[in-house]
Amino acid sequence: MAWKKRKRSVAPIPTSEEPEEWDYFDYGELQYSKGSAVCMTCEHFTYCSTKSCVTLLTCPIHRKLIQQGEHLTKRCKNWRKKRVLEIGWCAEVA
Ligand code: SF4
Repeated sequence: MAWKKRKRSVAPIPTSEEPEEWDYFDYGELQYSKGSAVCMTCEHFTYCSTKSCVTLLTCPIHRKLIQQGEHLTKRCKNWRKKRVLEIGWCAEVA
């Protein structure tokens, strides 16, 4: 079976790096978006939780945290459509 290695656009987060130590985006770094192109629908968007069960919204390519709620209304110029919407849930079949 020939499997093509896809080029990753985002470097994996080193295990030594804890998102809890990242800074939040500063005011004005993210732009308002009226459409569906917001952080939550971005390929790069992730989230995790702290030891005290607080959800952190994260952007691995910027290595920054996104304020609660801003993931629904804002984005940056690096927004990218989720690949799962293009190729489906099982990339091995595509
Ligand atoms: S790349 Fe931009 S749009 Fe995507 S999650 Fe990060 S800040 Fe949001």
